[in-house]
Amino acid sequence: MAAVPGPYDATRDRLADLMADQPSYRVEQVWRSLHVNVRRPAEMTELPAALRERLDSALPPALTPVAESVSDGGETVKWLFALHDGARVETVLMHYRDRTTVCVSSQAGCAMNCSFCATGQAGFTRQLTAGEIVEQVVAAMRQARAHPEGERRVSNIVFMGMGEPLANYDRLWAAITRLHDDIGISARHLTVSTVGVVPGIRRLATEALPVNLAVSLHAANDRLREKLVPLNRRYPLSVLTEACRSYLAAKGRRLSFEWALIDGVNDSFKDAAELADIAVPLGAHVNLIPLNPTPGYAVMGSSPGRVRQFRDRLTDLGVNATIRRNRGTDIDAACGQLAART
Ligand code: SAH
Repeated sequence: MAAVPGPYDATRDRLADLMADQPSYRVEQVWRSLHVNVRRPAEMTELPAALRERLDSALPPALTPVAESVSDGGETVKWLFALHDGARVETVLMHYRDRTTVCVSSQAGCAMNCSFCATGQAGFTRQLTAGEIVEQVVAAMRQARAHPEGERRVSNIVFMGMGEPLANYDRLWAAITRLHDDIGISARHLTVSTVGVVPGIRRLATEALPVNLAVSLHAANDRLREKLVPLNRRYPLSVLTEACRSYLAAKGRRLSFEWALIDGVNDSFKDAAELADIAVPLGAHVNLIPLNPTPGYAVMGSSPGRVRQFRDRLTDLGVNATIRRNRGTDIDAACGQLAART
């Protein structure tokens, strides 16, 4: 199927081509309508009807919702989207008391093969375009606007959906630029999560926009981390932590470590001590989450009691650690459960 670029892969030049017969202010008008008002061309009632129709057929949405599930009393919404070639991605919208976060996918599938992650178990399909990434946020913004208890504004974006964002660097960065410059999300509310793609972290450190960096650590010794996160063979902990240190020095942003607690695997006091040895010098914040069950990994998440003990031990060792709520477990929307099943 020929790839028609969706509305958010179109550049201003492409819009100008489509509107060559129009007054020149129209390009900016449509651009704002797409990004600030998150409207579809068909909804742009400020445009002459013929132009509206022309744009509507030239810029069809890149994402078609295949399924939508709601949980946590409406506070978590997950979508499964089909792309023009049939590839599928998932996006999750989460409302909290003080913020509204969208968890976006950066690739269809993932090639990193982390043993406990449902996306990794399903393998890699393809890179997403920048527009396919941006349009996930737009879809969530449209939904948030229509929240039953009044309009909500999407405030935070986390690249913690399907895929490894730093393995799709150029398109990721083009999407981040759009989200920041055109949609108006501030850099400190954008978080890139990586399994530890060191060249990507180094490149992030050279960008003008200081985004937050999250590293999915899960183990603080190489022997265990190689088993959980195969990429650790290429970029062992010493190299990874050095890249984190340079990122902090360059950007002064908050660094966080993600740690999925796996029963009997990485939830001992020894694991906590190893983690503290890495986190304390970096001033890193640790996000703890009990492992969510996935079909391809037989080990369970740590019990709530164990999770609290692990957190308390980290606190005693001087680590800033929080236990994250498990959003959307019942709709397979929780961390690591995104696998584009229908
Ligand atoms: N590839 C990036 C982005 C994906 S983020 C990264 O790894 O950071 C998804 C987050 O969920 C990562 O922290 C990942 O390690 C975590 N995760 C994966 N599988 C999980 C599971 N079964 N339970 C809890 N967290 C999981």
